[in-house]
Amino acid sequence: MNVLVYLEEVNGALRRASLEAVTAAKSVAGDGAVTGVIINGSDVAINSGAAYGLSNCLNVTGEGFDSHANSNVATAIAAAAMTSNSAVVFVSANSTGKDVAPRVAVKLDAGLLTDCVEVHAAGETVEAVRPVYAGKAMIRVKASTALTVVTLRPNVFTAKAGSTGTVASSPLTVDTTGSRSSVVTNVVKNEGALDVAEADIIVSGGRGLKGPENFHLIENLAKSLGAAVGASRAVVDAGWRPHGEQVGQTGKTVSPSMYVACGISGAVQHLAGMSSSKIIVAINKDSEAPIFKVADYGIVGDVFEVLPALTEKIATITGKS
Ligand code: FAD
Repeated sequence: MNVLVYLEEVNGALRRASLEAVTAAKSVAGDGAVTGVIINGSDVAINSGAAYGLSNCLNVTGEGFDSHANSNVATAIAAAAMTSNSAVVFVSANSTGKDVAPRVAVKLDAGLLTDCVEVHAAGETVEAVRPVYAGKAMIRVKASTALTVVTLRPNVFTAKAGSTGTVASSPLTVDTTGSRSSVVTNVVKNEGALDVAEADIIVSGGRGLKGPENFHLIENLAKSLGAAVGASRAVVDAGWRPHGEQVGQTGKTVSPSMYVACGISGAVQHLAGMSSSKIIVAINKDSEAPIFKVADYGIVGDVFEVLPALTEKIATITGKS
């Protein structure tokens, strides 16, 4: 079965989520081709996909691709799916993918499986596993349509390098005249700060921090671990932290190697966004806090005592402070 993967390039390299999607595509494609589709991709970025099993890449150019308007990106992906004769389209379930994938599904009259954490080949299509009820249960899903669009939760699939082939790249001109419904005029990268959606380690703070003036405790621990800072909705709603840091049902879904929840109770809506983290550490003064039910390691204690001590210890090990 041929599988198409939407590739995103940032600063001359493919996003890790794209490489994860390529590896996942390789695992289900069997004898079929794994084709990438990228917008105005650089040769370096495209070729870096080879190690992950990318065999072909359609590099989209044309009117309307100077800005990454998602409506145009969807048109490009749909065109690439037809050109590559793909039965399945993989898109990362990041903020772009969540916007683009449904548009692609509509254009292709395809079934849409969202936020999947497992994919398996099933004849000429795929079967996937995705969380439901805010992560409390898993469901096995399969589309009954000829084409299927699948979004993959970032950081769940491992990007495995090791293939030795090369990528055959060819241009794909897509006409989007008249179809542009939104224009991205400026993309400002948050220099220095890691994005929770892509970070390998996240240190998150909740209402237990008592106020925005105490978030330096979270930032310091994050710095010592090389981690991103996350937050519960309670502190975002209170204006202590920006919405971009919010983890949970109405924030970002994350699956880092380690998630450290500090002064966060573990409400079901928060768990929905982080319970698939590989290791969960909870620091809370209430031993009955629900966060301890999902934690691999728990510290029952006051964040104002635990965080400085932990940060100091970790900084001596990592040398980051
Ligand atoms: P609290 O629940 O107030 O917990 C604070 C915790 O800090 C407590 O467990 C307490 O024991 C501990 N604590 C207090 N002082 C200390 C101390 N000194 N040291 C150590 N621990 C201490 N929430 C999200 O996070 N993300 C979402 O995306 C989200 N979406 C939502 C969507 C909907 C539709 C709804 C209804 C709610 C949503 N919520 C979301 C809100 C969620 O229900 C909780 O209200 C929120 O997660 C609570 O945040 P918190 O854990 O920081 O605060």
